[in-house]
Amino acid sequence: NNFKGNDQVSRTPSETLDSLYTRAMPTPVSGPRLIAYSSELASAMGIDQGAETRESVEILSGNRVNRTMIPYAACYGGFQFGHWANQLGDGRAITLGEISKGNQIFELQLKGAGQTAYSRRGDGRAVLRSSVREFLMSEAMFYLGVPTTRALSLVDTGDKVLRDMFYDGNSEYENGAIVSRVAPSFLRFGNFQILYARGEVSNLEDLLNWSVQKFYPEIKEQGDQKIISFFREVSKRTSRMISEWMRVGFVHGVMNTDNMSILGLTIDYGPFSFLDNFDPNFTPNTTDLPGRRYAFAKQPSIALWNLQRFAESLMPLMQETNLLEDEVSNFKEYYTTDYYQMMSRKYGLSNLKTEEGEEFLDQMRSLLYDCKVDMTLFFQYLIDLARGEASREEVMNHFNECFYRELSESEQREFYNLIKVYKSFLEKDSLTTSESRQIMSEANPRFILRNYLLQKASEELEAGDDTLFNELFTALKNPYSKGSDRFFCKRPKWAENKAGSSMLSCSS
Ligand code: AMP
Ligand code: MG
Ligand code: MG
Repeated sequence: NNFKGNDQVSRTPSETLDSLYTRAMPTPVSGPRLIAYSSELASAMGIDQGAETRESVEILSGNRVNRTMIPYAACYGGFQFGHWANQLGDGRAITLGEISKGNQIFELQLKGAGQTAYSRRGDGRAVLRSSVREFLMSEAMFYLGVPTTRALSLVDTGDKVLRDMFYDGNSEYENGAIVSRVAPSFLRFGNFQILYARGEVSNLEDLLNWSVQKFYPEIKEQGDQKIISFFREVSKRTSRMISEWMRVGFVHGVMNTDNMSILGLTIDYGPFSFLDNFDPNFTPNTTDLPGRRYAFAKQPSIALWNLQRFAESLMPLMQETNLLEDEVSNFKEYYTTDYYQMMSRKYGLSNLKTEEGEEFLDQMRSLLYDCKVDMTLFFQYLIDLARGEASREEVMNHFNECFYRELSESEQREFYNLIKVYKSFLEKDSLTTSESRQIMSEANPRFILRNYLLQKASEELEAGDDTLFNELFTALKNPYSKGSDRFFCKRPKWAENKAGSSMLSCSS
């Protein structure tokens, strides 16, 4: 395409005005070693010889660039924690190029491949710890059915990287790594926002037209209507992505607008976490304290805030901006629809979008939080819950494994009563018991990649043992089955306060 950009390879930090990208070149590493790769993705991409060959490993570590590749780093900006941060860009991600197969597009990007024009003060590298997390988690999300970018390979670079892990001034050398990741595109809200902020309207128009033509070809309108349709699609996909996060209990942790995909994909895995105990206020990101802007339950409203900022960046292309403002406010409707459909599936009911259904969900939300219930375990036990009458003791025994603490007499009563309400919903529902259970087992994961497991797997990998890593990589491919029930338990006590198991910094 004919985007304006810098065609001179650069690793010197600069403000790249009037440029959508800057040419980049991976910085070679000393001892690349393939730790893992996704063979299913490789074959979908038509890389039939796999990622294991010497040549592939050289490419996936940035040591070799083929003639057909034109590596570049993209220029983008973003609102970080609510504040405009100006130019950011791919500071350690380098796109090698793209592969088309059938009607699918696979952009291949190396994360941690060295400095680019957008590295600012960073070294352009990534540590093994965070790369293990991104590799496993993007694949886990894919197999859960959540829209996401994918990970093709994980390479240990053989080089050391200096990081201040706990922001305490004590830096430590850690193993460096590179994840190759794949998506139709890594375009973010921020790619548009930087052009808006700079008043580069003609670049903005080019980017919009290209994005629509390439990723939203079904949009045939012109002028204002084209922009509205584009924005509506981004908005709907964002709504769907967030409702999927809420379904599986995923907290992204850094929902800055530079981490929001225009394709509604989960992108940039940093200090994310699944919920263990259901806690709407939980944020996995230490940088997000004390405001908890990116806490679990705030994700839908932050998505809307981000979409508002995104819409603003498109305004200069419009004749009648109020039409776009109206479309922005439709997000609430899209999300409400997605949310209630998703929650109805989780509970195996046809429709919870009723007055009593909404009330039930509200009560359930506070109960799960107050009683410190493990979200994943709870919904699994809910699937197996015996229909019909049951005593309080029977019900409490059934859910016994889900609680992180003992319940008082009155809490047990409350729990039991709400389960009775739920059973009355099941009874009235037109779905049969087996239909309901089928829907629930497709909506509720049995295996989630808990933070403490990731932490342990990466520690063991650093020490040369890849057993747990490989077990997790296998388990995450069938998250709705009972095949990996050795991981079917709540977070153990020892993992509760350890750094990394519940809270993480942005340092990666
Ligand atoms: P993130 O918080 O990972 O979404 O990154 C925010 C910005 O910081 C992006 O522009 C990244 O490219 C940049 N960045 C993060 N880590 C590094 C690093 N080690 N070297 C260079 N740039 C980085
Ligand atoms: Mg980012
Ligand atoms: Mg990151």
